[in-house]
Amino acid sequence: MFLFQELPSTPYDLRFSITGIPVRVHPLFWLVALLLGSSGDLILIPIWILVIFVSILIHELGHALAFRRYGQRSRIALQLAGGLTIPEPVSWGSGYANIGLTANQQILISLAGPGAGFLFAALVWAIVLVMGGSVSAFWLLGFIPLPLGVMLPFGGSIVAALITALLSVNIFWGVINLAPVYPLDGGSVMRNVFVQADPVDGMRKSLWLSVIAGAAVALAGFFVFRSLFMALLFGLLAFQSYQSLQHRF
Ligand SMILES: [Zn+2]
Repeated sequence: MFLFQELPSTPYDLRFSITGIPVRVHPLFWLVALLLGSSGDLILIPIWILVIFVSILIHELGHALAFRRYGQRSRIALQLAGGLTIPEPVSWGSGYANIGLTANQQILISLAGPGAGFLFAALVWAIVLVMGGSVSAFWLLGFIPLPLGVMLPFGGSIVAALITALLSVNIFWGVINLAPVYPLDGGSVMRNVFVQADPVDGMRKSLWLSVIAGAAVALAGFFVFRSLFMALLFGLLAFQSYQSLQHRF
């Protein structure tokens, strides 16, 4: 999701594969996850790193499985507390090529990342309820649950913190990632929607939407969620979209 260039391989990369999809974890992934988690309780830092790792992996697996559904191989890179799902060229005659995807297929591939996170959160939430626990949540705009805490009849406060963090990260960052800001998933969706509706000028309109929505989320992040991180991130993304407008149009 964040910082959108793939970092080069290092000897310290962790490599494995899930359902045949290769995954590479850059050492800076762990470092940034550690920095993001280090403001809290010491005992919670490993939990936080585990939550970030699992959540981003599930998000990227959503993209990768959607690619596979359309016959496109891909691989996953986790780095800098974010992830990338990169289509893998397949050999094609004498060279290599990616499968040509339609705009609607690309929209579904973009939605599959946040969608996988929402499904996972729903599953975890259901398990908590089935086990006799409960989740307290703040309902943003009346329909987006932001989990505040989990009551469990077992496991104690560490397990409760782990489950609360899993639910929050998967729901909150899934929603944030759907903001129509390039290059987040919501931005890719809107670009495909706009370019289909208006092949001549759709790209420019989607970049303006990205500038305005990015600035709006930056302000909301600062004043509503009191998150300097959100404000800086979205301010930067809005500025990047503004710069691409200046360069291209
Ligand atoms: Zn994504």
